[in-house]
Amino acid sequence: MSPKTSAYQIIRQNFEDAVALLGYSEETARILHLPFREMQTNYPVRMDDGSRRVFTGYRVQHNGARGPFKGGIRFSPLVDLDEVRALAEAMSWKTAIVNLPYGGGKGGVTCDPRTLSPLELEAVSRGFASRMHAILGPHRDVPGPDMGTNAQVAAWMMDEYSRRYGYSPAVITGKPVEMGGSLGREAATGRGVMIVAKAAFETAGRSLQGVRFIVQGFGNVGSNAARLLEAEGAVLVGVADIDGAIYSENGFSVESVVSHLGATRSLQGYPEADLVPVDELLAKPCDLLVPAAIEGVLTGENAGSVQAEFIVEGANLPTTPEADAVFESRGVTVVPDILANAGGVTVSYFEWVQNLKQLFWKEEEVNERLAEKLLGAYRDVHELHLKHRVSLRKAAYMLGVSRVKRAEELRGGL
Ligand code: NAD
Repeated sequence: MSPKTSAYQIIRQNFEDAVALLGYSEETARILHLPFREMQTNYPVRMDDGSRRVFTGYRVQHNGARGPFKGGIRFSPLVDLDEVRALAEAMSWKTAIVNLPYGGGKGGVTCDPRTLSPLELEAVSRGFASRMHAILGPHRDVPGPDMGTNAQVAAWMMDEYSRRYGYSPAVITGKPVEMGGSLGREAATGRGVMIVAKAAFETAGRSLQGVRFIVQGFGNVGSNAARLLEAEGAVLVGVADIDGAIYSENGFSVESVVSHLGATRSLQGYPEADLVPVDELLAKPCDLLVPAAIEGVLTGENAGSVQAEFIVEGANLPTTPEADAVFESRGVTVVPDILANAGGVTVSYFEWVQNLKQLFWKEEEVNERLAEKLLGAYRDVHELHLKHRVSLRKAAYMLGVSRVKRAEELRGGL
């Protein structure tokens, strides 16, 4: 992959394709594309060795016409303003596709959470919230966890906000259940991936029974998607994480990988599959590929070697426009991120609703409502895909962008 297509370039192209299909003017496109507000902060954190290190954090609020800005906070060494900007824009279209009363936002801190001690991680999380609190709020901007962050990080940020404004669970989602988190939130993005994968196979007259699948990224999204796909009868044949990859054409159980990773923190030494280079895993035989790690991994260079007939995007922006063109010409079904990974923000919305009403729903209720929302969105996108004879990605962007445009018009912003 050289030079690497950035997340921002990917979303820019996808947005421009949609705007061209929708026939919007340049002025309308500009209003819809440019972010409402971008905040950058540099803050010192006392490290365990007594030194002070400066961390840089970002929050981009892309579009709030349909409701409070909504989007996760990512901790990763690759975080920069362009990446956060791209991911914030993706959230605007995603929340509109699932018809949630939210806009789109995203945040991030440039850091490697794996190298931070628990105390340092807490200080980085609290520092971010203490610098950003003025632009956050249950009716203004509601973050949640993303790559490199988790329920504990959300709890620290909620506490930091609540110190200033009083008890405010609805300011952030993805919290621990004991602190107002929703049952079902932890697995929601992975569950959503399974739900739309099942719908895509059913559209093709197939079921998930016996489907061989590869997951790239085995964190929150990848591991939960794998567990739930397996429960539907699919067979895991390959897994990659940041340090390596494993493959076995006979398949292996999700639980055995989870416990191996739990015990050793590495895929190395896993007895039931061979170690393969991470890049090669994407080209191994399978029916379904679930990218669930980072953006820009499926490129014009490697798309031709992908053997999967279906790609369901758990990660945000994993596919470059060049790869999309290859998949389209080869008839590979790509269910785009802004639909396929919308399960997380959907249950985040349920969490927010429960917090505002001080209610707690049962897990079955959460899962049922999630399936209803996602299948509704899948049907809406699929209908546009057939009507306009465009890819599912183009149809999804057309749907999301047109719903945001309508809200902007009704508010008088267009
Ligand atoms: P996570 O931090 O829990 O896990 C990330 C996984 O990706 C880890 O297994 C890590 O080892 C792996 N990884 C990182 N870089 C990699 C690389 N270069 N090659 C292979 N593997 C790599 O993160 P997550 O919450 O599971 O998020 C994964 C993706 O899903 C991100 O793109 C995120 O934006 C997206 N997403 C997450 C949610 C959510 O609810 N967590 C919702 C929507 C979208």
